[in-house]
Amino acid sequence: TATAQTHAFQAEVKQLLHLMIHSLYSNREIFLRELISNASDACDKLRFEALDAPELFENDPDLAIRVGFDKSARTITVSDNGIGMSAEEVVTHLGTIAKSGTREFFGQLTGDRQKDANLIGQFGVGFYSAFIVADRVTVETRRAGQPASEGVRWECAMTGETAGEYTTEAIERAARGTSITLHLREDQDDLLSGWQLRSLIRKYSDHILQPILMKKEEWDEDKKEQVVSEEDETVNQASALWAKSKNEITDDEYKAFYKHVGHDYDEPLAWTHNRVEGRHEYTQLLYIPKHAPFDLWDRNARHGIKLYVKRVFIMDDAEKLMPTYLRFVRGVVDSADLPLNVSREILQESKDIDTIRAGCTKRVLGLLEDLAENDKDNYAAFWKEFGKVLKEGTGEDFANKDKIAGLLRFASTHADTPDETVSLADYIGRMKEGQDKIYYVTAETFNAAKNSPHLEIFRKKGIEVLLLSDRVDEWVTGNLTEFDGKPLVSVAKGGLDLGELEDEEEKKEAEKAADEYKELLDRVKASLGERVKDVRVTHRLTDSPACLVADEHDMGMNLARILKAAGQ
Ligand code: ADP
Ligand code: MG
Repeated sequence: TATAQTHAFQAEVKQLLHLMIHSLYSNREIFLRELISNASDACDKLRFEALDAPELFENDPDLAIRVGFDKSARTITVSDNGIGMSAEEVVTHLGTIAKSGTREFFGQLTGDRQKDANLIGQFGVGFYSAFIVADRVTVETRRAGQPASEGVRWECAMTGETAGEYTTEAIERAARGTSITLHLREDQDDLLSGWQLRSLIRKYSDHILQPILMKKEEWDEDKKEQVVSEEDETVNQASALWAKSKNEITDDEYKAFYKHVGHDYDEPLAWTHNRVEGRHEYTQLLYIPKHAPFDLWDRNARHGIKLYVKRVFIMDDAEKLMPTYLRFVRGVVDSADLPLNVSREILQESKDIDTIRAGCTKRVLGLLEDLAENDKDNYAAFWKEFGKVLKEGTGEDFANKDKIAGLLRFASTHADTPDETVSLADYIGRMKEGQDKIYYVTAETFNAAKNSPHLEIFRKKGIEVLLLSDRVDEWVTGNLTEFDGKPLVSVAKGGLDLGELEDEEEKKEAEKAADEYKELLDRVKASLGERVKDVRVTHRLTDSPACLVADEHDMGMNLARILKAAGQ
């Protein structure tokens, strides 16, 4: 038509489309899961916006998703009566990738099909997966609350000269929500079957809370084939998975549900599912992902907990339900006590939410303790992905400080490798007779820590020292001053007090040397002037001639360097 506008995809989208089609071809079935997942999200978003604006329901409050197919036109259609999109939203949501970490993602692609497929999965497959099975996709949509004249059609063909472009045009659309039509590629005709589509829906989308409707099919004795009737039937269970009891849920169901709530293509690492009774009643189904999302370090990144009240979706990204240091956790919390019209503002103030959050935190830490104890390989995988984030908890969550400390893993002089595998309990178990402190050194890199001159005497005496080189370790040691009654002590601070490990002879010699070299010390001190507080003779060095030491109560050298680099 005359009003259609042509747009070019953002370069990243073009690249992603290309990759998607080539790398995920053998997983083509996921397209349906992704489109249904988006339809379900759109219904959830409508429900959330309608909390403040009930008129958005437009007298059509029964949210549903519909899947249909047309054998002669060779199309599959997925529709919903959710929030829909405005003309502007269509362009931003379907023409660009706004996610943080997009550039890093493209930087990591290798051209190896299997590796890239995994990366795409981590990044999020989403809407563009439609192009795995379709060479032309048409989206028709109207945003809730807008007049019928504000409908939009978006179309993109992946063939010929127009690949890499899409068109939009204004249409009349009475129905609220979105309808996505896939014009199948040549070799995809087996998808044009009610039986096939139903089995894909049951396999991947059974847990979706809104009903997924298809037209009933009946056997036609004359035609000798299945014919589509006018009557609807619900294909999925359309029940809240988390509301069932644990023994009725299979691992596959838990995993499928995770892929939807976690927007993840991979399986979860672990999960915990509980109903909490008592003064506050709620159910929690919480997952730990296998991989960190691309926006793990984005402070505004979404928090992955969905809040429901009595199985009615209330909101996504309910940040108050999980502390920041557990922001990688995904899942749902369903409260029996909160009001249905609870808003973000109310949540901010709610004591009930504080209780739920404390309960969820305890559960996740318990799950991690269980992994650390009973499934060491998976715990090591977890630590690699999320250890740095968990470390933030030592300063953030006073009530659980000891639990978090128990979960920490460090590199140390015991193995002298950068692998972070040593727990504080392991360290204490290996302490020398007479040792009453946990020693650590912080530095900018592992190698700097490992080669620190401050370690010389410890190596000589065979005392283990934790080697800390994450930025966040300064935060950890600032907050965590002891574990299991043993103080954590920097080997680079203050006068070295080795307690009972001290060799009296060495100490005496050092004292003697201090007298002997008094003149030299004074001269060094005078020439360094304001730059040092003191110059001392030490017995902490065995090979190096000199080292810098921070005062007992001053900030560590590495922290000072970090703050300086940050411009403070
Ligand atoms: P994600 O679901 O992880 O955000 P997708 O690629 O699946 O990423 O979808 C991109 C965006 O397109 C969604 O965030 C949403 O804003 C929009 N979108 C996709 N499908 C629909 C739909 N059925 N209704 C409304 N918006 C949709
Ligand atoms: Mg999606």
